[in-house]
Amino acid sequence: LLNDRLSMALAQTKRSGGKLAVGFMDLDEFKPVNDSYGHEAGDLLLIKVAERIVSILRATDTLARLGGDEFILLFPNISGESECRHLLSRIMDSIAQPFKISGHHIQISTSIGVTLYPDDNVDADSLLRHADQAMYVAKEAGRNRFHFFDLVEDHHAHARSEIRARVRIALERKEFLLYYQPKVNLRTGQVVGLEALIRWLHPERGLLPPIEFLPLIENSEFEIRLSEWVVAKALEQLAAWHKQGLNLTVSVNIPALHLQSEDFVAFIAASLAMNPKAPSDHLELEILETVALWDINSVTQTMEACRELGLHFSIDDFGTGYASLAYLRRLPADTIKIDQVFVRDMLNDLDDLSIVEGVINLADAFQKEVIAEGVETVAHGTMLLHMGCDLAQGYGIARPMAAKDLPDWIKDFRADPAWTHAGNFRLSRQDTVLVFAEAEHRRWVADLVAYIDEKSQVDPTRDAKECRFSKWLNGSGQSAYGHLAEFSAIDSIHEAMHALGKELAYLCALQQHSEAHNRLPELFALTDKLIESLHRLIEIICADEQER
Ligand code: C2E
Ligand code: MG
Ligand code: MG
Repeated sequence: LLNDRLSMALAQTKRSGGKLAVGFMDLDEFKPVNDSYGHEAGDLLLIKVAERIVSILRATDTLARLGGDEFILLFPNISGESECRHLLSRIMDSIAQPFKISGHHIQISTSIGVTLYPDDNVDADSLLRHADQAMYVAKEAGRNRFHFFDLVEDHHAHARSEIRARVRIALERKEFLLYYQPKVNLRTGQVVGLEALIRWLHPERGLLPPIEFLPLIENSEFEIRLSEWVVAKALEQLAAWHKQGLNLTVSVNIPALHLQSEDFVAFIAASLAMNPKAPSDHLELEILETVALWDINSVTQTMEACRELGLHFSIDDFGTGYASLAYLRRLPADTIKIDQVFVRDMLNDLDDLSIVEGVINLADAFQKEVIAEGVETVAHGTMLLHMGCDLAQGYGIARPMAAKDLPDWIKDFRADPAWTHAGNFRLSRQDTVLVFAEAEHRRWVADLVAYIDEKSQVDPTRDAKECRFSKWLNGSGQSAYGHLAEFSAIDSIHEAMHALGKELAYLCALQQHSEAHNRLPELFALTDKLIESLHRLIEIICADEQER
């Protein structure tokens, strides 16, 4: 009967030029009613819901039950969305009133998806499907509401599902490849490993990074298929390098879904068996700290079983998830990777620097290795070394590259001399305040540059007491290191900096920003000098501690 009514309503709407609304309605939380009051009560509730709706409908409207707690609504001859909203609100209100069934008061709500013909100019089946899709949106938005099918939204969804379909074909067409990014010991200059990073060589769009396609397949069966391909490919490469005498460790990123799949350990064992030339203890799996949040027991078991096969684990993007310390203690991982978002800004963002320092100490406390991601400059590496983090990965060392380019890169790689030098001076915990002093100073300079270049209205030189570096210099710095000659050197350079800062800010006050800008090299030269002196102080303190 519904099909009949729907096709009649469509024909009539075409003739009359009005609009037809097709609604897909699904009760929220109907199953618990059945479960707690019995199926008879559930049936009665459905009948009463239908009665209430029918009492609101106009003579020409239709209510049909599809099955379960799903209903279809047809409103022919309506003027548009606002009339439809009005009708739907009345239906929702009437259902929201408690029902009295077999002595129980039952409260229930409903979610409705709607589409309007001929705005949505498709056939009867598609109209029902669109209303159904809109109903899902209403459910996802929190239930107890209606949602209109959105053509634009649907186009986006369509485009997404097209790429999704395209990604699947890419695997068959062998369009994926792995790039490798070196991980190095900054202090010794040794290459300690390579991270395999997937790329899609798209025939039209060129080389695509994972952000362009991995999110589209997240939590799908295909994500596992692709991850299997990554492991297989990386193992092949590992075997090839070892044959060439390159004794490297390769790490691959494993999505949570794959790690948690039932046959993960069997898959790893089979992959190793297929590549007997790839030493299993040179394969590392990178997992996100959040994987453990779902089921720490089974994740730990899987990891233990892989470790028995020789594999190692690292926890990727550490600091961005919500892993508790208890999880961290239990997870059998060897390495923690500090997420690059913290590393990137650590040079002058004290909060990020605190997180970096915290993770380094945490790794130390749990006796794990720690590696910093996103090391983009020499200064990053130096600061990390002073804090005791020797391992790093980042554009400042090497970008991810094709496998064939690696042997030459490794042959040519030399750690920056500044790193080799700084590696000798690791601060004890109470002295990392010196690294923070450096970051505070860099912050002040960055703020001043922003002010001179009119990117900020705040003049950081206005209040000398605001300068945290000054505070450190006159307070805790003075009391801890004031007896050292190098400390007085810092003091005088710092004074010169403030004098220069004042001068430049004064130029800005006279609206002579470009004059001020032209004198920035003076500021940078003093900055370099100040940081150099700070580093010298670090070295003396470290040497002093070693002697003691
Ligand atoms: P990730 O595992 O944290 O990998 C590090 C990402 O940071 C890589 O991006 C790398 O190119 C980038 N990176 C490295 N050094 C720097 C730096 O100094 N500065 C900046 N701005 N970025 C740097 P990529 O290759 O785009 O990969 C992004 C993410 O995609 C990876 O993050 C990983 O979560 C995921 N991914 C990559 N390959 C695979 C894979 O084969 N399988 C799975 N499941 N995920 C992968
Ligand atoms: Mg990774
Ligand atoms: Mg990472």
